[in-house]
Amino acid sequence: MIDQSTCTHSCSFCDSQRMSLVMDFGEVALAGGFLKPEQFDQEPRFPLQVYFCHDCYSVQVVNKIPPDILFHNYFYFSSSINTLRDHFRRYAEEVTTRFLKPGVASVLEFGCNDGVLLRPLADQGIRTVIGVDPAKNIVASIDDPRVTLVNAFFTEDVAERIVSEYGKLDMIVANNVYAHIPDIQGTTRAVAKALSDDGVFVFEVHYLGKVISEMQYDMIYHEHLYYYSLLSAMKHFDRYDMMVFDIKPVPIHAGSMRFYVCKKGSRHSALVSQSVKMLEVEERANGFDRYETFQRFSDDILSHRKKLVALLEKLKQSGKKIAGYGASGRANTMIQFCGIGHDHLDYMIDDAPAKTGYYTPGSHFRVVPSSVLTEPGAPDYVLVFAWSFIDEIRKRNVRYLENGGHMIVPLPDVRIHPINA
Ligand SMILES: [Zn+2]
Repeated sequence: MIDQSTCTHSCSFCDSQRMSLVMDFGEVALAGGFLKPEQFDQEPRFPLQVYFCHDCYSVQVVNKIPPDILFHNYFYFSSSINTLRDHFRRYAEEVTTRFLKPGVASVLEFGCNDGVLLRPLADQGIRTVIGVDPAKNIVASIDDPRVTLVNAFFTEDVAERIVSEYGKLDMIVANNVYAHIPDIQGTTRAVAKALSDDGVFVFEVHYLGKVISEMQYDMIYHEHLYYYSLLSAMKHFDRYDMMVFDIKPVPIHAGSMRFYVCKKGSRHSALVSQSVKMLEVEERANGFDRYETFQRFSDDILSHRKKLVALLEKLKQSGKKIAGYGASGRANTMIQFCGIGHDHLDYMIDDAPAKTGYYTPGSHFRVVPSSVLTEPGAPDYVLVFAWSFIDEIRKRNVRYLENGGHMIVPLPDVRIHPINA
């Protein structure tokens, strides 16, 4: 049943108003908004609600925050994370081998961040490498003569300007940003316009299937507007005379999917991969085209919340000291959704020096460096919000664990390391 009485939103992808609520997270502070105590009073909060579209099966956050507010305090630089740097190097090698002729080919990436993928593409000998990104400070950090930069949102106008100067592109790439842009229809028209007839549009986003199967509700925040399934992507591109012809699951961020998209009638369109066919069948079997599936997901995360909070309360009652680990957007969602407060956690640990001395958005935990874990008075437990990097975090903090420290991993199931704690 579709409860349209409560839905005043239309679908970002297909304009349908046949949308139903999956989860209401309440009024939530913005994930990137680290602050100082004197700013606590003025901190804005915004509703965060996820809806399912009955017509195109997309799952989306309907509360769009103006970009100037959203990215005011942006702490995220891709190249500073080693795992990501290696990931994008392999990515560049792979797409070049499969689709591009070094010395001739042209590639454009929008939402290019600090050039983490553009540089390895230039290393592969791609002749024209264009990066488009609206963030001035991030683009300024690229500083590579092989890369042409356009400081803008990738709109149809910008696409036309680029095509008139460089011709149509052999490949357009977008990573994560394809889940973040409010005007997804305009951007997709820009892609269709700028891509050559046999060109390939590649984008990588967090995969909805992982969010559901591993209960990754902490992936949901204001910046992250769209959660793609293959079924929703197929419906989406069909409206632009394009189609998904291949996919590749990638382990980054605990479950991304790379989508390969081409124009209908192009030479790639005749070769739809086996993995696309298999995933389509699997998603239908798992009910990604039905609202009931997402209602079940909503019930599951409500019980996860109960379980996690009960554990924290039990530990606190027995006098344990607990800190959070990983002051990310994911932590922000979980903390605010679960109502984790200063009764549960003492402070937040983060490895990024830029965050030290600030306080977490919404919950206002002080951010301290991970060196506290090897100092006297270290917490008895750390709740690892950056749980998708748990192996790396355990290795980096062997001494803490050897000295009797414990790590609480909140997802996919609440569990404690070491096990016999
Ligand atoms: Zn829709």
